[in-house]
Amino acid sequence: MFLSIFDMFKVGVGPSSSHTMGPMVAAARFLDLMRASPFEFHGVRGSLHGSLAFTGVGHATDRATILGLAGFSPDSYDHDKAEAELARINADKTVQPDSLPKLRFDPKQDLIFDYDQPLPGHANGMVLMATDAQGDVILRQVYYSIGGGFVLTEEELANGKATEEGAPVPYPFKSAAEMLEMASASGKSIAAMKRGNEVARGCEMSLKTGTARIWDVMNACIERGLHTDGILPGGLSVRRRAKGIHDALQAERGMNLTAPHTINDWMSVYAMAVNEENAAGGQVVTAPTNGAAGVLPAVLRYYLDHVPGAAPSHVEDFLLTAAAIGGLVKYNASISGAEAGCQAEVGSASAMAAAGLCSVMGGTPEQVENAAEIALEHHLGMTCDPIKGLVQVPCIERNGLGAIKAVSAASLALRGDGKHLVPLDAVIETMRQTGQDMHEKYKETSLGGLAVNVPNC
Ligand code: SF4
Repeated sequence: MFLSIFDMFKVGVGPSSSHTMGPMVAAARFLDLMRASPFEFHGVRGSLHGSLAFTGVGHATDRATILGLAGFSPDSYDHDKAEAELARINADKTVQPDSLPKLRFDPKQDLIFDYDQPLPGHANGMVLMATDAQGDVILRQVYYSIGGGFVLTEEELANGKATEEGAPVPYPFKSAAEMLEMASASGKSIAAMKRGNEVARGCEMSLKTGTARIWDVMNACIERGLHTDGILPGGLSVRRRAKGIHDALQAERGMNLTAPHTINDWMSVYAMAVNEENAAGGQVVTAPTNGAAGVLPAVLRYYLDHVPGAAPSHVEDFLLTAAAIGGLVKYNASISGAEAGCQAEVGSASAMAAAGLCSVMGGTPEQVENAAEIALEHHLGMTCDPIKGLVQVPCIERNGLGAIKAVSAASLALRGDGKHLVPLDAVIETMRQTGQDMHEKYKETSLGGLAVNVPNC
């Protein structure tokens, strides 16, 4: 099993990796399919199913799909260009992707929210179709957005395709137990094994520049969030709070007025800054998803700004360790809220961040595994019930609390010797089973939980 750090941490656009980035990626893949086809196309259309339909408006799934069909992609997304292109598409009722003819596409008629027919492979299904001059469908593909911006066709999903292609890697661990065995046998840290795997698939230099870019984008997102206020889009009138809290924390610095627990506010405010940016449709890094994108950057920024002896040279090890844990969770359970609830999103993010922090604070592989286990264990059962389908409430605060739990989990693990009763593998399997048993209304459909119990929402 190999899942690259660059698949886990992808630069993209908010508010959702599964409902915004994934559909945009699926549309880009469909354009490639059209380009490789011998047919002459005159139009495109599509339908959104399951959770993509139920919370698609709040997550801007329609907008992302349309922009994807127009040739936009998450990693090079330009907000102003996207706005201009959407206005043109609405007026002209066509899309003009590169290397394809101008295609008929009326956003109001040609992209359907299908609330009645979920697709069988996954909660986040979509169908894209291309038509001939008469409007008849001559090319059709089903895509599933399986979380974290990952997209599979129905054939790939049925064949179990995920991460098995490419050259062999030196440390092919599929479970936390195997990871610890390989660490013990090799004498290497989890970060060093993960680095070895990445280098086997790429090169050391691109790993260095790639991880540096990931942290730059994460940190820039924190900074934008800390310096922007106003009301978030979507109709809930949620006020951005990160700037105000950060300004107050800065003003209190050095005044000897604050209680020790104020450090929690620093962790929260970094996470909230990211998730407010995400909710506003800004540029974020999946970690492992957009909805949970604030946890890991918050813990890393907390480490760099507040932990004595912290060094920027440790950022790469932090990210490698976190990616190793995220890969285990994705491979053995899920990182998708639509598949397993918020335990799979913020829970996974918290486990990844706890492992990263524990590693750069000198934790052994056993302590790192313990840190991830503690963080994930105490998110088990957490549902996904965003109000109005917007990635705002409870998501923004939840990332702050996920960061606090991650730091506590790393700290507790560092107080022990790595021996503990519940293995990380058992918690991951428990998360998988709990997600399977969870009622659909708690899996990113906004049909239950907070989404139906908050007055006037
Ligand atoms: S509740 Fe959790 S899983 Fe659901 S959208 Fe919000 S952050 Fe994502």
